[in-house]
Amino acid sequence: MFDADRTTDLDRVLRYIRPAVRREKPYFVGGAPDIRVKLNQNESPYDLPEDLKHRLLDAFMTIPFNRYPTEQPDRLRHALAKHLSHDPEGLLIGNGSNELTYTLGLTMIEKGTSVVLPRPMFALYATMVRLFDGEVVGVPSREDLQFDTDAIVAAVGKRRPALTVLASPNNPTGLAMAIDDIERVVQAAKGFVVVDEAYVEFNDAPSAMTLVARYPQLLLMRTFSKACGLAGLRIGYLIGHPVIIRELLKARLPFMVDRLAETVALALLERPAWLAEQAARISASCLSLTHALMALPGVDVVPSKTNFILFRSPVPHTEIMARLVANGVQVRDMSGYPELPGFMRVNAGSPAENKVFLEALKDALQAWRDL
Ligand code: PMP
Repeated sequence: MFDADRTTDLDRVLRYIRPAVRREKPYFVGGAPDIRVKLNQNESPYDLPEDLKHRLLDAFMTIPFNRYPTEQPDRLRHALAKHLSHDPEGLLIGNGSNELTYTLGLTMIEKGTSVVLPRPMFALYATMVRLFDGEVVGVPSREDLQFDTDAIVAAVGKRRPALTVLASPNNPTGLAMAIDDIERVVQAAKGFVVVDEAYVEFNDAPSAMTLVARYPQLLLMRTFSKACGLAGLRIGYLIGHPVIIRELLKARLPFMVDRLAETVALALLERPAWLAEQAARISASCLSLTHALMALPGVDVVPSKTNFILFRSPVPHTEIMARLVANGVQVRDMSGYPELPGFMRVNAGSPAENKVFLEALKDALQAWRDL
């Protein structure tokens, strides 16, 4: 398709791409085709109820698609503020929470800016810091994979970062920090602390929301993609002090949340009981899957406060994953994190999906023993 003689032109023009970008790899989830049981992206196994979809069809017919949405999705902002009992001016809604990660970078990070990131943690934060030419100050976790609060506080004191990110509960471990530990980090920090609470609905311990009013350096990141089951429409948000949110707005592109996504998110907020029931149902599924995994001989399981479970077995993870795929089941390989050799991550599915996964896993373990 492209002219081979033009490769020198191509090389020349590539030199104009920032080295911080050239060094990265594009984000691809990967995965096999023909998957029946998809448990690799921590999604909800449940689509929106049909009656709601029918009602949304009526709403769809009234949306003027030729018109821009408002700069910020104000109707959603106000509904969410009511839902959270927070000032609407202290909310920033994005095209998924991932998108807002880049807004943090645009606002806070320039060449050499230090950012403290405990590890292993959701990898997008480190990628974002590198893309903005910031410096990642990684803080290793304890042996049980819990974040090491003392070490984080020490790193914050020594490096004086512009930003510290804590994911709680964390992906990929599923572990949460105690609220007192989060507060210790926030108190130690002169710069911003972002607590990513993507999985907060599954955690029975208190959210860092109770701290937001007291600490202007604290921002919470949330999403509709997990417990709310809206990964396909891309709504995430930041909660913080209105003055700080106003600064973030300056770095932000307008029109990032489209009319359709706003309409659907609004409809979900009108069903708080349904939302709570979804979270409880998925948590129960995760707990029963955890117990079933723990009952398998030789399988190590990290107890989870989320909708997914980190696990490994004596069988090479590549063998396990190949067997699972052969049975139509996709889980996620976590061995790219140096701290997690041989680990896989599976999210809670419907009871039927969990059953298929467990049968396929048992099959894979047995096949290895029979060799
Ligand atoms: N934060 C964490 C910790 C996550 O695990 C994920 C999803 N993988 C996200 C954010 C992304 O959420 P969103 O779909 O809102 O971009």
